[in-house]
Amino acid sequence: MPTATANALTFTLHPTDTPTAEAERAAILAQGGFGTAFTDHMVTIDWREGKGWHDAQVRKRAPFQLDPAAAVLHYAQEIFEGLKAYRGADGSITLFRPDQNAKRFNASATRMAMPTLPEHVFVEAIEALVRVDRDWVPGGDGSLYLRPFMFAAEPFLGVRPAHHFIFSVIASPVGNYFKSGPKPVKVWVSREYTRAAKGGTGAAKCGGNYAASLVAQAQAYENGCEQVIFLDAAEHRWIEELGGMNIFFVRKDGSLFTTPLGTILPGITRASLIELARDKGIQVEERRYAFDEWQADVARGEVTEAFACGTAAVVAAIGEVQFDGGSFTIGNGETGPVTQALRQELTALQRNQLPDTRGWVH
Ligand code: PMP
Repeated sequence: MPTATANALTFTLHPTDTPTAEAERAAILAQGGFGTAFTDHMVTIDWREGKGWHDAQVRKRAPFQLDPAAAVLHYAQEIFEGLKAYRGADGSITLFRPDQNAKRFNASATRMAMPTLPEHVFVEAIEALVRVDRDWVPGGDGSLYLRPFMFAAEPFLGVRPAHHFIFSVIASPVGNYFKSGPKPVKVWVSREYTRAAKGGTGAAKCGGNYAASLVAQAQAYENGCEQVIFLDAAEHRWIEELGGMNIFFVRKDGSLFTTPLGTILPGITRASLIELARDKGIQVEERRYAFDEWQADVARGEVTEAFACGTAAVVAAIGEVQFDGGSFTIGNGETGPVTQALRQELTALQRNQLPDTRGWVH
């Protein structure tokens, strides 16, 4: 039986009695895509007021039984994370900086008045799931996307932090995030909707942020774009980030800059790229950048590349920018050399193909 204290939490394994047949799994892995196929198992850990974390299980993936009054369904007390397991050429499976996801998960939990999970338990939960579902980690360009999340399960109506939470991890074998593959993406700049304000939840990875972004995302699709760029809530002027990615800009001298932390999600890809670029002697600045400045800088050739970055798409060049008053192309609309070099280096690091001097590969 698992013990009641989180520090000594042990995972009980209940393997599925209906594992996916090997041929079916191979067909699913060959499909690629993003977020539609799932592995055989899931992790669950319960938290109750007065009892703390308990009942850690690795078990058959199955629907949750939720009371219709479960607080998450009404007040959206929910947070999540996203990271990937990669299969190396030698068959070994690695994670990239899972400790950073654990830290951000707890920062999100604190912001949403939810219990924190010891970082090592967060990482062990992921390891336990990857271990039991290791055959689901694709080779080649694919990866196993891991989704740790936590939600308020207590049935009650009333606005206060819940007394019962469920932490869970599920996994989904994935190919390319963008349908167009690693080609440059078209982005839509939303001048109507914003994502986060000072004092709000922009820096937390909570479901509500994404629910609020969907109407802007729909406008992006209507305008033939794949992602939204959000501007700040106060002036609708300063570039913040994309719906699910941070943003970098490249000057003609090869230096980089990105928007500052505060109301944006502190991306682990963003932080890794800043460190990686600085180690290569590339100057990186964190600064506020106005949308009209960007347009002007692109027009006079001062800014030659821009890219989006995040776990899902890693590094994706931004080729074209659309907004309600027009559009512009970055450089020649193709992936630029700085974007390409950073993408290659980070991808190689994540896939354990370069020496890991920073202790990022787990
Ligand atoms: N911003 C938002 C809003 C995101 O959802 C994500 C994806 N987690 C990112 C940025 C990038 O974060 P990371 O590099 O940690 O995936």
